[in-house]
Amino acid sequence: MNFEKLIQDKNIFKNHSKPELDFIVNSYLKGDLSDNEMTFWLKSIYKNGMSIRETADYTESIINSGDKLNFGSLDGYIIDKHSTGGVGDKISLILGPILAACGCYVPMIVGRHLGHTGGTLDKLESIPGYNGNLSNNEFKNNVKNIGISIIGQTDSICPADKKIYSLRHKTNTVSSYPLICGSIMGKKIAEGIQGLVLDIKIGNGAFMKDLESGEKLSDLLKLIGENFNVNVESVFTDMNQPIGRFSGLRCEINESIDILKGFKCTETMNIVYDLGMTALKIAGFTNTKKMIDNAINDGNAYEIFEKMIYVHGGNLDSINHKFDNVVKVRSSSHGVLLYTNTTLIGDLINKLTVGNKKIDTNAGIQFFKKNNDKIYKNEVICEIFSKNKLSNELAKKQILNSFTIT
Ligand code: URA
Repeated sequence: MNFEKLIQDKNIFKNHSKPELDFIVNSYLKGDLSDNEMTFWLKSIYKNGMSIRETADYTESIINSGDKLNFGSLDGYIIDKHSTGGVGDKISLILGPILAACGCYVPMIVGRHLGHTGGTLDKLESIPGYNGNLSNNEFKNNVKNIGISIIGQTDSICPADKKIYSLRHKTNTVSSYPLICGSIMGKKIAEGIQGLVLDIKIGNGAFMKDLESGEKLSDLLKLIGENFNVNVESVFTDMNQPIGRFSGLRCEINESIDILKGFKCTETMNIVYDLGMTALKIAGFTNTKKMIDNAINDGNAYEIFEKMIYVHGGNLDSINHKFDNVVKVRSSSHGVLLYTNTTLIGDLINKLTVGNKKIDTNAGIQFFKKNNDKIYKNEVICEIFSKNKLSNELAKKQILNSFTIT
Protein backbone atom coordinates (compact mmCIF):
# COMPACT_ATOMS: atom_id res chain seq x y z
CA MET A 1 0.00 0.00 0.00
CA ASN A 2 1.23 3.48 -0.82
CA PHE A 3 1.08 5.71 2.24
CA GLU A 4 1.38 8.98 0.31
CA LYS A 5 -1.57 7.96 -1.85
CA LEU A 6 -3.62 7.31 1.30
CA ILE A 7 -2.96 10.83 2.54
CA GLN A 8 -3.88 12.23 -0.90
CA ASP A 9 -7.13 10.21 -0.72
CA LYS A 10 -7.97 11.72 2.65
CA ASN A 11 -7.27 15.20 1.37
CA ILE A 12 -9.89 14.71 -1.36
CA PHE A 13 -12.33 13.18 1.19
CA LYS A 14 -11.97 9.62 -0.10
CA ASN A 15 -12.70 7.20 2.72
CA HIS A 16 -10.11 4.69 3.88
CA SER A 17 -10.97 0.99 3.73
CA LYS A 18 -10.50 -1.34 6.74
CA PRO A 19 -7.28 -2.88 5.29
CA GLU A 20 -5.93 0.63 4.69
CA LEU A 21 -6.61 1.67 8.29
CA ASP A 22 -5.04 -1.58 9.56
CA PHE A 23 -2.01 -0.84 7.40
CA ILE A 24 -1.60 2.71 8.79
CA VAL A 25 -2.08 1.74 12.45
CA ASN A 26 0.12 -1.38 12.29
CA SER A 27 2.88 0.24 10.21
CA TYR A 28 3.17 3.09 12.70
CA LEU A 29 3.17 0.70 15.67
CA LYS A 30 5.94 -1.42 14.09
CA GLY A 31 8.01 1.66 13.24
CA ASP A 32 7.63 1.24 9.46
CA LEU A 33 6.05 4.71 9.37
CA SER A 34 8.00 7.54 11.00
CA ASP A 35 6.55 10.13 13.41
CA ASN A 36 6.82 12.63 10.58
CA GLU A 37 4.81 10.50 8.16
CA MET A 38 2.19 9.68 10.78
CA THR A 39 1.87 13.38 11.63
CA PHE A 40 0.83 14.06 8.01
CA TRP A 41 -1.89 11.45 8.34
CA LEU A 42 -3.07 12.69 11.76
CA LYS A 43 -3.29 16.23 10.41
CA SER A 44 -5.30 15.09 7.39
CA ILE A 45 -7.77 13.31 9.72
CA TYR A 46 -7.84 16.30 12.05
CA LYS A 47 -8.76 18.49 9.09
CA ASN A 48 -11.03 16.22 7.06
CA GLY A 49 -12.52 13.83 9.63
CA MET A 50 -13.70 10.25 9.16
CA SER A 51 -17.03 8.68 8.30
CA ILE A 52 -18.82 6.58 10.95
CA ARG A 53 -17.76 3.42 9.15
CA GLU A 54 -14.12 4.56 9.06
CA THR A 55 -14.26 5.50 12.76
CA ALA A 56 -15.56 2.02 13.64
CA ASP A 57 -12.85 0.40 11.48
CA TYR A 58 -10.15 2.64 12.98
CA THR A 59 -11.36 1.71 16.48
CA GLU A 60 -11.12 -1.97 15.52
CA SER A 61 -7.57 -1.49 14.22
CA ILE A 62 -6.63 0.13 17.56
CA ILE A 63 -8.22 -2.78 19.49
CA ASN A 64 -6.52 -5.41 17.32
CA SER A 65 -3.10 -3.83 17.86
CA GLY A 66 -2.98 -5.59 21.24
CA ASP A 67 -4.73 -8.01 23.58
CA LYS A 68 -8.46 -8.05 24.16
CA LEU A 69 -9.56 -9.20 27.60
CA ASN A 70 -12.18 -11.91 27.91
CA PHE A 71 -13.70 -12.50 31.33
CA GLY A 72 -15.61 -15.62 30.27
CA SER A 73 -18.82 -16.10 32.22
CA LEU A 74 -19.08 -14.01 35.38
CA ASP A 75 -22.04 -13.76 37.75
CA GLY A 76 -22.36 -10.00 37.24
CA TYR A 77 -22.42 -7.32 34.57
CA ILE A 78 -19.04 -5.99 33.34
CA ILE A 79 -19.10 -2.23 33.18
CA ASP A 80 -16.79 0.78 33.18
CA LYS A 81 -17.09 4.54 33.38
CA HIS A 82 -15.21 7.16 31.40
CA SER A 83 -14.99 10.89 32.06
CA THR A 84 -14.01 13.43 29.45
CA GLY A 85 -11.97 15.13 32.18
CA GLY A 86 -12.45 17.82 34.75
CA VAL A 87 -11.01 19.62 37.77
CA GLY A 88 -11.31 17.83 41.13
CA ASP A 89 -12.83 14.90 39.24
CA LYS A 90 -12.54 12.05 41.73
CA ILE A 91 -15.77 10.34 40.66
CA SER A 92 -14.12 7.12 39.36
CA LEU A 93 -12.51 6.53 42.76
CA ILE A 94 -15.92 6.65 44.43
CA LEU A 95 -18.17 5.20 41.75
CA GLY A 96 -15.96 2.23 40.79
CA PRO A 97 -16.06 0.58 44.27
CA ILE A 98 -19.79 1.39 44.59
CA LEU A 99 -20.57 -0.42 41.32
CA ALA A 100 -18.46 -3.38 42.44
CA ALA A 101 -20.32 -3.42 45.78
CA CYS A 102 -23.57 -3.55 43.80
CA GLY A 103 -22.45 -6.79 42.11
CA CYS A 104 -20.89 -5.40 38.92
CA TYR A 105 -17.38 -6.15 37.66
CA VAL A 106 -15.35 -3.03 36.89
CA PRO A 107 -12.14 -3.31 34.84
CA MET A 108 -10.96 0.29 34.65
CA ILE A 109 -8.10 1.59 32.51
CA VAL A 110 -7.51 5.23 33.39
CA GLY A 111 -5.29 8.04 32.21
CA ARG A 112 -2.84 10.56 33.59
CA HIS A 113 -3.46 14.29 33.73
CA LEU A 114 -4.27 15.74 30.34
CA GLY A 115 -4.08 19.49 29.76
CA HIS A 116 -5.67 21.22 32.74
CA THR A 117 -7.50 18.09 33.95
CA GLY A 118 -6.36 15.70 36.67
CA GLY A 119 -5.55 12.02 36.08
CA THR A 120 -7.04 9.18 38.14
CA LEU A 121 -3.80 7.19 37.85
CA ASP A 122 -1.73 10.11 39.21
CA LYS A 123 -4.12 10.32 42.16
CA LEU A 124 -3.90 6.59 42.91
CA GLU A 125 -0.12 6.66 42.63
CA SER A 126 -0.04 9.28 45.40
CA ILE A 127 -0.84 6.32 47.69
CA PRO A 128 2.60 4.92 48.64
CA GLY A 129 3.21 1.59 46.86
CA TYR A 130 0.20 1.71 44.50
CA ASN A 131 1.07 -0.15 41.30
CA GLY A 132 -1.14 0.77 38.34
CA ASN A 133 0.93 -1.25 35.93
CA LEU A 134 -0.28 -4.86 36.16
CA SER A 135 -0.17 -7.76 33.72
CA ASN A 136 -3.43 -8.67 31.98
CA ASN A 137 -3.78 -11.72 34.24
CA GLU A 138 -3.24 -9.79 37.46
CA PHE A 139 -5.73 -7.16 36.28
CA LYS A 140 -8.31 -9.79 35.36
CA ASN A 141 -7.86 -11.71 38.62
CA ASN A 142 -8.34 -8.54 40.67
CA VAL A 143 -11.55 -7.77 38.80
CA LYS A 144 -12.82 -11.33 39.29
CA ASN A 145 -11.84 -11.54 42.98
CA ILE A 146 -12.57 -8.03 44.24
CA GLY A 147 -14.93 -6.67 41.61
CA ILE A 148 -12.66 -3.81 40.49
CA SER A 149 -9.12 -3.04 39.43
CA ILE A 150 -7.81 0.33 38.24
CA ILE A 151 -4.69 0.43 36.06
CA GLY A 152 -3.01 2.77 33.59
CA GLN A 153 -2.66 2.11 29.90
CA THR A 154 -0.44 -0.94 29.36
CA ASP A 155 1.83 -2.00 26.50
CA SER A 156 -0.36 -5.00 25.77
CA ILE A 157 -3.82 -3.37 25.53
CA CYS A 158 -4.17 -1.00 22.56
CA PRO A 159 -0.41 -0.33 22.20
CA ALA A 160 -1.13 1.55 18.96
CA ASP A 161 -3.26 4.04 20.90
CA LYS A 162 -0.44 4.61 23.38
CA LYS A 163 1.97 5.51 20.57
CA ILE A 164 -0.52 7.47 18.46
CA TYR A 165 -1.88 9.35 21.48
CA SER A 166 1.58 10.54 22.44
CA LEU A 167 2.13 11.82 18.88
CA ARG A 168 -1.31 13.51 18.86
CA HIS A 169 -0.26 15.33 22.03
CA LYS A 170 2.93 16.60 20.38
CA THR A 171 1.24 17.58 17.11
CA ASN A 172 -1.89 19.30 18.45
CA THR A 173 -4.18 16.73 16.90
CA VAL A 174 -5.85 15.53 20.12
CA SER A 175 -9.20 17.24 19.62
CA SER A 176 -10.42 15.29 16.59
CA TYR A 177 -13.69 13.41 17.19
CA PRO A 178 -12.81 10.19 15.28
CA LEU A 179 -9.33 10.07 16.83
CA ILE A 180 -10.75 10.65 20.33
CA CYS A 181 -13.38 8.01 19.67
CA GLY A 182 -10.87 5.38 18.47
CA SER A 183 -8.67 6.11 21.47
CA ILE A 184 -11.36 6.03 24.18
CA MET A 185 -13.57 3.27 22.77
CA GLY A 186 -10.59 1.15 21.64
CA LYS A 187 -9.31 0.88 25.23
CA LYS A 188 -12.78 0.43 26.73
CA ILE A 189 -13.84 -2.28 24.28
CA ALA A 190 -10.50 -4.09 24.72
CA GLU A 191 -11.21 -4.27 28.48
CA GLY A 192 -13.93 -6.81 27.65
CA ILE A 193 -16.82 -4.73 29.05
CA GLN A 194 -20.53 -5.12 28.30
CA GLY A 195 -21.56 -1.58 29.27
CA LEU A 196 -20.03 1.86 29.59
CA VAL A 197 -21.30 5.01 31.26
CA LEU A 198 -19.82 8.24 29.93
CA ASP A 199 -19.43 11.33 32.08
CA ILE A 200 -19.44 14.09 29.48
CA LYS A 201 -18.31 17.21 31.27
CA ILE A 202 -19.58 20.55 30.03
CA GLY A 203 -18.52 23.99 31.17
CA ASN A 204 -15.67 26.40 31.79
CA GLY A 205 -13.49 23.66 33.33
CA ALA A 206 -14.18 21.06 30.64
CA PHE A 207 -12.76 20.39 27.18
CA MET A 208 -16.31 20.82 25.88
CA LYS A 209 -17.66 24.25 26.71
CA ASP A 210 -21.19 23.71 25.36
CA LEU A 211 -23.77 20.94 25.38
CA GLU A 212 -23.88 20.72 21.58
CA SER A 213 -20.25 19.58 21.25
CA GLY A 214 -20.73 17.18 24.17
CA GLU A 215 -23.75 15.64 22.48
CA LYS A 216 -21.84 15.25 19.22
CA LEU A 217 -19.07 13.29 20.97
CA SER A 218 -21.60 11.28 22.97
CA ASP A 219 -23.54 10.27 19.83
CA LEU A 220 -20.37 9.10 18.11
CA LEU A 221 -19.11 7.09 21.12
CA LYS A 222 -22.54 5.49 21.50
CA LEU A 223 -22.70 4.49 17.84
CA ILE A 224 -19.25 2.96 17.93
CA GLY A 225 -20.15 1.14 21.17
CA GLU A 226 -23.23 -0.35 19.47
CA ASN A 227 -21.00 -1.55 16.66
CA PHE A 228 -19.06 -3.65 19.19
CA ASN A 229 -22.07 -4.73 21.29
CA VAL A 230 -21.17 -2.42 24.17
CA ASN A 231 -24.13 -0.62 25.71
CA VAL A 232 -23.11 3.03 26.10
CA GLU A 233 -25.09 5.71 27.96
CA SER A 234 -24.01 9.32 28.56
CA VAL A 235 -24.58 11.66 31.46
CA PHE A 236 -23.83 15.35 30.90
CA THR A 237 -22.45 16.86 34.10
CA ASP A 238 -21.65 20.41 35.12
CA MET A 239 -17.98 21.38 35.03
CA ASN A 240 -18.38 25.07 35.85
CA GLN A 241 -16.56 24.75 39.18
CA PRO A 242 -14.06 22.33 40.74
CA ILE A 243 -15.86 19.18 41.94
CA GLY A 244 -16.18 18.80 45.70
CA ARG A 245 -14.02 20.31 48.44
CA PHE A 246 -10.52 19.41 47.22
CA SER A 247 -8.51 19.33 44.05
CA GLY A 248 -5.04 17.76 43.93
CA LEU A 249 -3.66 14.24 44.21
CA ARG A 250 -3.61 12.87 47.74
CA CYS A 251 -6.22 15.33 49.01
CA GLU A 252 -8.69 13.90 46.44
CA ILE A 253 -7.90 10.36 47.57
CA ASN A 254 -8.69 11.38 51.15
CA GLU A 255 -11.87 13.14 50.08
CA SER A 256 -12.98 10.03 48.16
CA ILE A 257 -12.29 7.85 51.21
CA ASP A 258 -14.38 10.21 53.38
CA ILE A 259 -17.29 9.96 50.94
CA LEU A 260 -17.01 6.16 50.68
CA LYS A 261 -17.10 6.09 54.50
CA GLY A 262 -20.35 8.07 54.47
CA PHE A 263 -19.27 11.73 54.72
CA LYS A 264 -22.06 13.73 53.09
CA CYS A 265 -20.91 15.86 50.16
CA THR A 266 -24.13 16.53 48.27
CA GLU A 267 -22.55 18.13 45.21
CA THR A 268 -20.11 15.25 44.57
CA MET A 269 -22.68 12.59 45.48
CA ASN A 270 -25.18 14.05 43.00
CA ILE A 271 -22.71 13.28 40.20
CA VAL A 272 -22.08 9.82 41.66
CA TYR A 273 -25.85 9.18 41.78
CA ASP A 274 -26.41 10.38 38.19
CA LEU A 275 -23.66 8.19 36.79
CA GLY A 276 -24.17 5.27 39.18
CA MET A 277 -27.90 5.04 38.60
CA THR A 278 -27.35 5.12 34.84
CA ALA A 279 -24.66 2.43 35.08
CA LEU A 280 -26.81 0.18 37.28
CA LYS A 281 -29.77 0.62 34.92
CA ILE A 282 -27.56 -0.47 31.99
CA ALA A 283 -26.61 -3.49 34.13
CA GLY A 284 -30.31 -4.38 34.45
CA PHE A 285 -31.04 -3.19 38.01
CA THR A 286 -33.97 -1.17 39.34
CA ASN A 287 -34.13 0.68 42.67
CA THR A 288 -30.67 1.96 41.81
CA LYS A 289 -30.42 4.92 44.21
CA LYS A 290 -31.13 2.66 47.17
CA MET A 291 -28.43 0.24 45.96
CA ILE A 292 -25.88 3.07 45.93
CA ASP A 293 -26.91 4.25 49.41
CA ASN A 294 -26.72 0.70 50.77
CA ALA A 295 -23.26 0.15 49.22
CA ILE A 296 -21.99 3.13 51.22
CA ASN A 297 -24.03 2.69 54.40
CA ASP A 298 -23.18 -0.98 54.94
CA GLY A 299 -19.46 -0.27 54.36
CA ASN A 300 -19.12 -2.61 51.35
CA ALA A 301 -17.99 0.06 48.89
CA TYR A 302 -15.21 1.26 51.21
CA GLU A 303 -14.13 -2.30 51.98
CA ILE A 304 -13.80 -3.00 48.24
CA PHE A 305 -11.80 0.22 47.78
CA GLU A 306 -9.46 -0.84 50.61
CA LYS A 307 -9.02 -4.34 49.16
CA MET A 308 -8.28 -2.95 45.71
CA ILE A 309 -5.61 -0.59 47.04
CA TYR A 310 -4.09 -3.47 49.04
CA VAL A 311 -3.82 -5.89 46.10
CA HIS A 312 -2.26 -3.10 44.01
CA GLY A 313 0.47 -2.79 46.70
CA GLY A 314 -0.82 0.50 48.13
CA ASN A 315 -0.53 1.39 51.81
CA LEU A 316 -3.50 3.44 53.02
CA ASP A 317 -2.05 3.68 56.55
CA SER A 318 0.64 6.05 55.35
CA ILE A 319 -1.42 8.64 53.53
CA ASN A 320 -1.68 11.33 56.17
CA HIS A 321 -2.17 14.41 54.07
CA LYS A 322 0.16 17.32 54.87
CA PHE A 323 -0.99 20.88 54.18
CA ASP A 324 2.33 22.60 53.41
CA ASN A 325 2.70 26.41 53.33
CA VAL A 326 -1.02 27.15 53.34
CA VAL A 327 -1.95 30.38 51.56
CA LYS A 328 -5.49 31.66 52.05
CA VAL A 329 -7.45 33.38 49.26
CA ARG A 330 -9.97 35.81 50.74
CA SER A 331 -12.88 37.67 49.26
CA SER A 332 -12.39 41.38 48.66
CA SER A 333 -16.14 42.14 48.75
CA HIS A 334 -19.59 40.91 49.79
CA GLY A 335 -21.69 39.05 47.23
CA VAL A 336 -22.33 35.73 45.52
CA LEU A 337 -19.44 33.64 44.18
CA LEU A 338 -19.24 32.21 40.67
CA TYR A 339 -16.27 30.32 39.19
CA THR A 340 -15.81 31.66 35.66
CA ASN A 341 -12.52 29.99 34.68
CA THR A 342 -12.21 26.54 36.24
CA THR A 343 -9.64 25.59 33.58
CA LEU A 344 -7.26 28.12 35.15
CA ILE A 345 -7.67 26.38 38.53
CA GLY A 346 -6.87 23.01 36.91
CA ASP A 347 -3.76 24.49 35.30
CA LEU A 348 -2.61 25.91 38.63
CA ILE A 349 -3.14 22.60 40.43
CA ASN A 350 -1.09 20.77 37.80
CA LYS A 351 1.66 23.39 38.16
CA LEU A 352 1.66 22.97 41.95
CA THR A 353 1.76 19.16 41.78
CA VAL A 354 3.80 18.29 38.70
CA GLY A 355 5.32 21.64 37.73
CA ASN A 356 8.37 21.26 39.94
CA LYS A 357 11.18 18.75 39.46
CA LYS A 358 9.62 16.27 41.90
CA ILE A 359 5.90 15.50 42.01
CA ASP A 360 4.35 17.00 45.14
CA THR A 361 1.59 14.55 45.99
CA ASN A 362 0.43 16.73 48.90
CA ALA A 363 -0.14 19.85 46.77
CA GLY A 364 -3.64 21.08 46.01
CA ILE A 365 -6.44 23.48 46.79
CA GLN A 366 -9.26 23.23 49.32
CA PHE A 367 -12.44 25.08 48.38
CA PHE A 368 -14.61 26.57 51.12
CA LYS A 369 -16.99 28.44 48.81
CA LYS A 370 -18.71 27.03 45.74
CA ASN A 371 -20.91 28.45 42.97
CA ASN A 372 -23.81 30.61 44.19
CA ASP A 373 -22.56 30.64 47.80
CA LYS A 374 -23.01 33.91 49.66
CA ILE A 375 -19.70 35.38 50.71
CA TYR A 376 -18.64 38.22 53.03
CA LYS A 377 -15.66 40.49 52.64
CA ASN A 378 -12.49 38.80 53.98
CA GLU A 379 -14.06 35.35 54.13
CA VAL A 380 -11.78 32.53 52.92
CA ILE A 381 -12.72 31.25 49.45
CA CYS A 382 -10.01 28.62 49.21
CA GLU A 383 -6.63 27.56 50.57
CA ILE A 384 -3.65 26.67 48.42
CA PHE A 385 -1.00 24.26 49.67
CA SER A 386 2.23 22.83 48.26
CA LYS A 387 5.89 22.44 49.23
CA ASN A 388 6.74 25.58 47.29
CA LYS A 389 5.53 28.69 49.14
CA LEU A 390 6.47 30.92 46.20
CA SER A 391 4.26 28.87 43.83
CA ASN A 392 1.41 29.13 46.32
CA GLU A 393 1.70 32.93 46.45
CA LEU A 394 1.79 33.05 42.65
CA ALA A 395 -1.23 30.75 42.40
CA LYS A 396 -3.08 33.03 44.85
CA LYS A 397 -2.57 35.99 42.51
CA GLN A 398 -3.77 34.00 39.50
CA ILE A 399 -6.72 32.34 41.19
CA LEU A 400 -8.32 35.77 41.58
CA ASN A 401 -8.94 35.55 37.79
CA SER A 402 -10.92 32.32 38.12
CA PHE A 403 -14.07 33.67 39.83
CA THR A 404 -16.29 36.71 40.17
CA ILE A 405 -18.22 37.98 43.17
CA THR A 406 -21.38 39.81 42.18
N1 URA B 1 -8.79 10.28 26.48
C1 URA B 1 -8.30 9.25 25.74
O1 URA B 1 -8.04 8.17 26.24
N2 URA B 1 -8.08 9.49 24.44
C2 URA B 1 -8.35 10.67 23.84
O2 URA B 1 -8.12 10.79 22.66
C3 URA B 1 -8.87 11.71 24.62
C4 URA B 1 -9.08 11.48 25.95
